[in-house]
Amino acid sequence: MRVFRLLLAFLLLVTAGSFSQSASSAKTAAGFSLDTIDKSIDPCVDFYQYACGNWIKNSEIPADRPAWQSFSELNERNLTVERGILEKAAAGGAGRSAVDQKIGDLYGSCMDEKAANAKGFAPLKPELERIAAAKDKGALIDEIAHLHMVGTTALFSFYSNSDLHNADRVIAYIDQGGLSLPDRDYYLKDDSDKVEMRKHFVDYATEVFTLAGQTPQQAAASAQAVLVVETLLAANSMDRTKRRDPKNRDHKMTRDEALGLAPEFSLNRYFTGVGAPNFAALNVGNPDYFKQVSGVIASLPLESLKTYVTFRVLRAAAAWLSQPFVDADFKMRQALTGQKQNQDRWKRCVDLVDGSLGEALGQRYVEATFGAEGKQRMLKMVDALEKSLDEDIQGLSWMSDDTKKQAKVKLTAIRNKIGYPDVYRDYGAVTIKGDDLLGNVQRADEFEAKRQVAKIDKPLDRKEWGMTPPEVNAYYSGSFNEIVFPAGILQPPFFDKAMDDAVNFGGIGLVIGHELTHGFDDQGRKFDPTGNLRDWWTEQDGKEFEKRVSCVADEYSNFVAVDTMKLNGRLTLGENTADNGGARIALMALEHMIADDKTGKEGQSVDGYTPEQRFFLGFGRVWCEKQRPEYLRMQVSTNPHSPGKYRVDGVVQNMPEFQKAWGCKAGQPMVAENACHVW
Ligand SMILES: [Zn+2]
Repeated sequence: MRVFRLLLAFLLLVTAGSFSQSASSAKTAAGFSLDTIDKSIDPCVDFYQYACGNWIKNSEIPADRPAWQSFSELNERNLTVERGILEKAAAGGAGRSAVDQKIGDLYGSCMDEKAANAKGFAPLKPELERIAAAKDKGALIDEIAHLHMVGTTALFSFYSNSDLHNADRVIAYIDQGGLSLPDRDYYLKDDSDKVEMRKHFVDYATEVFTLAGQTPQQAAASAQAVLVVETLLAANSMDRTKRRDPKNRDHKMTRDEALGLAPEFSLNRYFTGVGAPNFAALNVGNPDYFKQVSGVIASLPLESLKTYVTFRVLRAAAAWLSQPFVDADFKMRQALTGQKQNQDRWKRCVDLVDGSLGEALGQRYVEATFGAEGKQRMLKMVDALEKSLDEDIQGLSWMSDDTKKQAKVKLTAIRNKIGYPDVYRDYGAVTIKGDDLLGNVQRADEFEAKRQVAKIDKPLDRKEWGMTPPEVNAYYSGSFNEIVFPAGILQPPFFDKAMDDAVNFGGIGLVIGHELTHGFDDQGRKFDPTGNLRDWWTEQDGKEFEKRVSCVADEYSNFVAVDTMKLNGRLTLGENTADNGGARIALMALEHMIADDKTGKEGQSVDGYTPEQRFFLGFGRVWCEKQRPEYLRMQVSTNPHSPGKYRVDGVVQNMPEFQKAWGCKAGQPMVAENACHVW
């Protein structure tokens, strides 16, 4: 799961950095309500504050969370449902089905805190001894290959994905990787928050090495060595904004070319170690990284590299070892996110099962929660949104007929997946034991890694899902050219069966529009209907597009997220474009529905608000949130999504439809002087 997740570029939201976890204290998921509104605020001055003001006043970030969003309540409820499923499966005994044995015993082994404490870090000793025994750098590469298969990455990443130029075929990929902090900036920048995180990181590494048996002096030296190695990796890594352009990651080459590029990586040895088939070609995400880091490997002493790999093993396992390791791991996460206390163990264990055996747990979750009715209403909405996007594109004044024709082909080809996969993954090959937590985690990781390796040089399985059914999220995939909505998100506040269509079009309708639009954003537009990286735009239309998205990039670059930190308009460009386009086409779809409704009911006001106003209230309400300042700082550096306030205000100020609905006048803050309009 972890490996595949990296490939999902176009999510609806990213709530987890590499150190953060999701979820928190129990409340019931609330649907749409006018109680969230702060009527003392003029909607034309700050619509987010108007729609969310009372929600913000009445909400508190739970101690075990870095942030609290209106849909966090939904996460909470899903966790509680999953807990019920897992406790039942854990207690089930001999008569259990194979699926219940696996999810139940993984959960049970995780909940056995006593056993984890008694074992200390003993379960890791064989790994650590193998690293210590490596006689040269080639032998260390063998160990890295083994570690990559059991959940620890070091130096670089290896995975499979569809060929950028032949999407029906899966090929091998190698790419930069192996950093412990959330981004290269944390190693390279001298902003005060980054400098502080480096200090926390050295403390964290020192503590972990001490717990693993080193003297305080040794541990401090080891931590410094790790920082030196990771800083060298970071310095040679491509930054996030540059990586958004798929062309910058498009470097297919023969196996021999890759070997020649990076001799010190001993890639042939590595590929044998991970059991990869004898492929002739692969994609190298960042050739410069491999070239430069090959030199880094040559120049560093073997001991420094071993220390780095040892740390990566300890870090990956820390959360599943004894309490002192768990605490050290949490302390680092706390520095990054501001979270006050660790989540209860049961929540961490539910997340573990979701991450390791997600489609087995998801199968039970769907049986418990998801009805056929939800799927039918969703299909109708997707259909309405697709029609609106088509109409929107065909009506664009800046796009030529040639490109419009191509866009229609692509839009028609977008597949959708709703709720859960047709066929659930078979975890039959994973052995799960009731009393072996770390072994379970490693065997589940190994199952997933082998599954990824086995896909190389095979046809793409277009039935596969990149999220598990309980996830409160959605995505568009360029190589699959599909939009995906897990069962988890098809609930309030996104989708509320009890509410009028206006509210739901502002919630899940806008999400559908958002995902569809990703197929045509700064990244998505570079892929064709089959998922190949191919330019189907005329040169002039491409230029017109760039001009229009530059407006969006400049707009969001001026928003201050926290302290004096402004958003990175280029990093968040695809998501902001999707939010703007999604809002416009969701509203179009709603207007069509109102026009087509012969009873006139759809067009009526409810509780004193017109359908258009309720649409915007439904939209605003979804993104109500509170975030800890530490977490916001991390989000600005790493998250391609803007904070909730700007996901709302950044969009509405570009929309004449909004200004009409609320009677806003030129010169007011929610009426942009230079409104941006792409879709
Ligand atoms: Zn998105």
